[in-house]
Amino acid sequence: MCDQPNPNGGACGFCDACVQSSLFSHPDVHFAFPISGGDGEGASSKTSDQYLPEFRTYLKTNPFPMFKNWISSISAQKKVLQIGVKESSAVLSKLSLKSHSGKYKILVLWLPEKLSSAAANKLLKTIEEPNEKTVLLLITHDLSGVLPTIISRCLVFSIPPLGGKQVERWLNKERNVAPDTARVLSKMSCGDPGLALDYLENRENLKVFAEAFVSSMKISFKKDFQGLHLWVEELGSWGRGQTQEYFTFSSTVISEIAKYKSMGSGEVIFDWFPEISFKTEGFSKLLKYSYLPMFMSVFDEGKIDIGRNLNPKIVLFDAGIRMMEIF
Ligand SMILES: [Zn+2]
Repeated sequence: MCDQPNPNGGACGFCDACVQSSLFSHPDVHFAFPISGGDGEGASSKTSDQYLPEFRTYLKTNPFPMFKNWISSISAQKKVLQIGVKESSAVLSKLSLKSHSGKYKILVLWLPEKLSSAAANKLLKTIEEPNEKTVLLLITHDLSGVLPTIISRCLVFSIPPLGGKQVERWLNKERNVAPDTARVLSKMSCGDPGLALDYLENRENLKVFAEAFVSSMKISFKKDFQGLHLWVEELGSWGRGQTQEYFTFSSTVISEIAKYKSMGSGEVIFDWFPEISFKTEGFSKLLKYSYLPMFMSVFDEGKIDIGRNLNPKIVLFDAGIRMMEIF
């Protein structure tokens, strides 16, 4: 899009086109992303255009955007966000116009896994054969959730996480995070800067997970059915997304503790929560290596079952019972 690209083809960063692009307001760069249709309406009654101001603000403050942060930035936690068929029509009509600059037109479609099947079908022909000087960038966080008919028409590039060391440096340098905390966050996020930042900004939410994890381990070890009952009641009131995140969190913590066990040292999330009573070393002795695959399958299956719309309390109770059987 740049008017004066560097000799190596990179953008100059200063021309009008670069400035507009950096503000997400270049007239030839179009955005399509999951939205909520608003109160009492289906998502198909609106398009991304109605949410563009919020989306621009969101991107400016979230250099590594995550879907759940987008949901909360538009206060749509209780709604279903998707890219509807009306969005696809809007995209096709935008792409059929001549570009303002006479150069390329770009469509950035964020999270194609959220396309409704009707919306996806409507875009298939354009994805297969875009008009001249038209680039479609589909950015997914879950390739397995994207329809195969879309994937087969795309060139797939996977962009790996930045990596632990780089995230640690970035948190330290750009966000003034203390070195110890930066190390814990980079480990916990497996080198994903968006996740690390999310943990940093939502320490209290993460603390809730850490406490629930500790309770679940104590309950399982002691085979405390009364405790399990209370644990299920508490977690059963969470939203599905939150419960799924909790299962992912639990897998990460168990694998951190297993690493701690094998190395005899290392960072775990509890280093960041001295107020939670948990002895990593003591627990690592209780945790036999043979337990690991069993814990992992409890957490993985719990996450899948929640995603399948099963009753969260039943899923949690089942997970609790299975963890009791492990010890
Ligand atoms: Zn430029």
